[in-house]
Amino acid sequence: TYGAEFFRDWLTAVAAAVDREADRLTELDSAIGDADHGANLKRGCAAVTAALEKEPPATPGAVLVAAGRQLISTVGGASGPLYGTLLRRTGKALGDAEQVSRTALAEALATGVAAVAQLGGAQVGDKTMLDALTPGAEALGTSFAAAREAAEAGALATVPLRARKGRASYLGERSIGHQDPGATSSALLFAALAETAE
Ligand code: ADP
Ligand code: MG
Ligand code: MG
Repeated sequence: TYGAEFFRDWLTAVAAAVDREADRLTELDSAIGDADHGANLKRGCAAVTAALEKEPPATPGAVLVAAGRQLISTVGGASGPLYGTLLRRTGKALGDAEQVSRTALAEALATGVAAVAQLGGAQVGDKTMLDALTPGAEALGTSFAAAREAAEAGALATVPLRARKGRASYLGERSIGHQDPGATSSALLFAALAETAE
């Protein structure tokens, strides 16, 4: 099982991955958006790691709720409220357990992903973060490695899709042929989780 420290380590690994991949995320967002996805997430992740260091929450659920709150208050773009909602709702679903299993996390994440779908009005196939989050959360029921692979495959599968939600949808047909930035960062979330669990 996994405790608060594991969850802090996970989010620290996410922040490191976002720092590493920020240019690529911004490049993807410059093709079908407004070229700020890397910067948005860098700012959000920096606020998350600072908050978790300053006042480390005692349970996995509290770590995710605190992180989600930071994302919502520091990231101006669409991805801030969406990722913030993902973490907050996942954290709330974990309740006040001190230790959680991988399968309990998978179930809680499914709740968080459903909240993202409700907030953004998108579903799988709309070329958004949900295209990586949904298969990733589902495969987490099997293993951390399966979740990483499923999320990565989901992000790659956004390339031929036409965007139906968010800024990229304004491009219509011209959004086809580009990987969605949000699905790409969502795959990083699962890669960091698998890395932390190894
Ligand atoms: P903005 O589009 O406001 O500049 P970002 O560039 O940070 O915000 O994030 C863009 C990403 O957010 C997209 O690539 C997409 O994955 C995701 N996104 C945008 N709108 C939605 C939505 N309605 N539902 C789910 N994800 C969305
Ligand atoms: Mg953008
Ligand atoms: Mg923007």
